[in-house]
Amino acid sequence: MTTDPARRVEVYPGKEAVVDFDPALTFECVEECTWCCQHGVLLYEKDLLELASRASLSEATTQFRGQDFVRQEEKTRDDHVDEDGQACYFLRDDGLCALHAEHDWKPTRCSVFPLQVTVEDGEIHAGIRDEAHEHCEGLDVSERRVVDHLDAFLPELLWDLDDPETKRAL
Ligand code: SF4
Ligand code: SF4
Repeated sequence: MTTDPARRVEVYPGKEAVVDFDPALTFECVEECTWCCQHGVLLYEKDLLELASRASLSEATTQFRGQDFVRQEEKTRDDHVDEDGQACYFLRDDGLCALHAEHDWKPTRCSVFPLQVTVEDGEIHAGIRDEAHEHCEGLDVSERRVVDHLDAFLPELLWDLDDPETKRAL
């Protein structure tokens, strides 16, 4: 299969992604939504190191099938939880991410949403996660085209990972 050259974007010098969504798509996170923070987030090794300087790993993380995740916990706000009554350890009552609000940082996988990364023929593809079409309130509500800001969604470390695909969640 050949790829339309217009859909291959250089996100960092020498690091390209194939865009699998409509280039006209815009995104701006809607603060009160919190849907994508109602799950446990996979942490890459570099994320773990970064997180260790900002939080207690023993309190904030858990392991599942040999991989590290931010753990979930029960929350008091019903509109901020999934069907199990839980959400990400770092989701505050005001709907903000404690890591982002207090440390100006968040794990790689949190930056990627509402995109997902897949690999085809050795190339990184950026698409929209299926669940995002149904749950993410930030799609097509602003003027900010995703394709113009791919570096904000796709941290550079993704190109260094053996498996940068982003489908797994806790
Ligand atoms: S770490 Fe922050 S941005 Fe990521 S899921 Fe948790 S609350 Fe949301
Ligand atoms: S689901 Fe979309 S709009 Fe909602 S908090 Fe996540 S990124 Fe923001």
